[in-house]
Amino acid sequence: DPTGEPEGLLVHASDDYAPGIKASARINATLLALVRNEELPGMLQSMEDLERTWNHKFNYPWTFFNDVPFTDEFKEKTQALTKAECRYELIPKEHWEMPSWINKDIYEESVKMLLEQKVQYADKISYHQMCRWNSGMFYKHPALADTQYYWRVEPNVHFFCDVDYDVFRYMQDNNKTYGFTINLYDSPDSIPTLWPETLKFIAQHPEYIHENNAMDWLTDKARRPDHNKKAHGYSTCHFWSNFEIADMRFWRSKAYEDYFNHLDRAGGFFYERWGDAPVHSVALGLFEDSSRIHWFRDIGYQHIPFFNCPNSRKCRGCVTGRLTDGESFLHREDCRPNWFKYVGMG
Ligand code: GDP
Ligand code: MN
Repeated sequence: DPTGEPEGLLVHASDDYAPGIKASARINATLLALVRNEELPGMLQSMEDLERTWNHKFNYPWTFFNDVPFTDEFKEKTQALTKAECRYELIPKEHWEMPSWINKDIYEESVKMLLEQKVQYADKISYHQMCRWNSGMFYKHPALADTQYYWRVEPNVHFFCDVDYDVFRYMQDNNKTYGFTINLYDSPDSIPTLWPETLKFIAQHPEYIHENNAMDWLTDKARRPDHNKKAHGYSTCHFWSNFEIADMRFWRSKAYEDYFNHLDRAGGFFYERWGDAPVHSVALGLFEDSSRIHWFRDIGYQHIPFFNCPNSRKCRGCVTGRLTDGESFLHREDCRPNWFKYVGMG
């Protein structure tokens, strides 16, 4: 298992970034959560974990986003869990609503097909909207205009390990664009034309491809040829984006903006069920220097049903090397070995 290496091989970036040793101002960054009022208990759980293991040492602000106003209860209970500033932001309608060029009839027909293929959440319009917002909208919210880095946090996730350094400073000092914990294969039926559309786009814009790209990782077909075939050339391997620590300058770049607009016009956020995870991952794999993408092996993390469990005494409640709870067939879904093979462990 990729995470099962002996302790001696563990990179603890913390040595250089420990608080007190190199006490310095906060980076321009925020913890960021898109969340519904009903998910308050799950959000409190995630916050408690991240505050306990990390943020109480650094006090990065939290920015909460919602397509409807947050309730007073949501605001009071989340703010009560942190000394840091909490911001509560409403998503503008034009960022959330189905765009005008999406044909409702085609959408309805498409949903039927997607459901036959058992594509999860295909019939929930809000899920399509959420994926599109996370793909191409969140970093355009006026509340983030002056913010550079974010750490995305979902309700009901777990953080297991004490992290003693400022991860945002680590990103900045090491010139990293994107940090992940887990790599998974996607349901190919949710993205049959994502790769073909991507190929069309890069044929029009070959200049956006980075010379040190991760194309081999994106197109691997050795381990799951079935996925590659159904997704028409994309392995479906992606950074699991419910966890991401990233520099928004990448999403705000001309390359990504043009790419997102191309995908948005193609309609796959609604006619298929393109997730923000494969969209982010394909863009990073093509347009970014792969050495600027970092595996946070030291951040113990769970979003059901998958874990990232480091080999470290700093972690509690995370079994070293574990990817899932019990069900070994789920190990087939882990494609981190591909990332390590083509790009390395960083
Ligand atoms: P899954 O992880 O793919 O099963 O999807 P989730 O249900 O966890 O949704 C992903 C993220 O988007 C979570 O942070 C949710 O709280 C959030 N989310 C999903 N749909 C909506 C919505 O309609 N409104 C709001 N405000 N948040 C949403
Ligand atoms: Mn989730």
